[in-house]
Amino acid sequence: MLEQQLASATEDAHFHAAWRNAVISFDLISSPHQTDCREGCSLCCWLRVDTWAHEVFFLAQALEPLPQDQKDALLQRLQTHATTVTQLTVFEHATRNIACPLLVDGRCSAYAARPQACRRHHSTDLNACIHTFENPTDLQAPAGHDAAIFGLCTERMTETHDIYCKLGYDPTIYELGSALWEALTDPACWQRWRAREKAFLRASHTPAH
Ligand code: SF4
Repeated sequence: MLEQQLASATEDAHFHAAWRNAVISFDLISSPHQTDCREGCSLCCWLRVDTWAHEVFFLAQALEPLPQDQKDALLQRLQTHATTVTQLTVFEHATRNIACPLLVDGRCSAYAARPQACRRHHSTDLNACIHTFENPTDLQAPAGHDAAIFGLCTERMTETHDIYCKLGYDPTIYELGSALWEALTDPACWQRWRAREKAFLRASHTPAH
């Protein structure tokens, strides 16, 4: 369904609608019933978030209705974030507890439009989250998620990514905050993506594994 919708998309809104449908389907597998996740807990929002360009543009258009003062504050946080993380290696960023610029008062300010990596993230062990937060350089610490659900989500993420790649769209893995900053401040990013070119030229990116 995603492939057909993307292949026939001609207007900007068609691309975002295709991704919105994909996200709705993704949430059916990424919403486990038994977790330690609670509203107001944001321990995982201090991790580096990897994302794809189409997710960043979906997020950017979802932020358009924000009141100007909130938009200005967000742009300020994004600029500071982008300046910081583009000077770090992926490892340095991943081990420093840098808050996501969309985090406001301990809550995600763009929850409905957050990327798949955030939607996949969950925990069945709050102590594991606390340990990771308090020991960000301990990358060997056991994850606190349900392996089966995490695996299903990862499979779906790969499937959707493969569809965009098959249709020629940017396969680069970008760091969320720095890519969102670029998307919101440079309209040429969207034009490049539509032309099946590399969307973001200054954002931090993660080498494909
Ligand atoms: S996008 Fe939202 S859920 Fe994801 S890390 Fe940022 S604040 Fe957290």
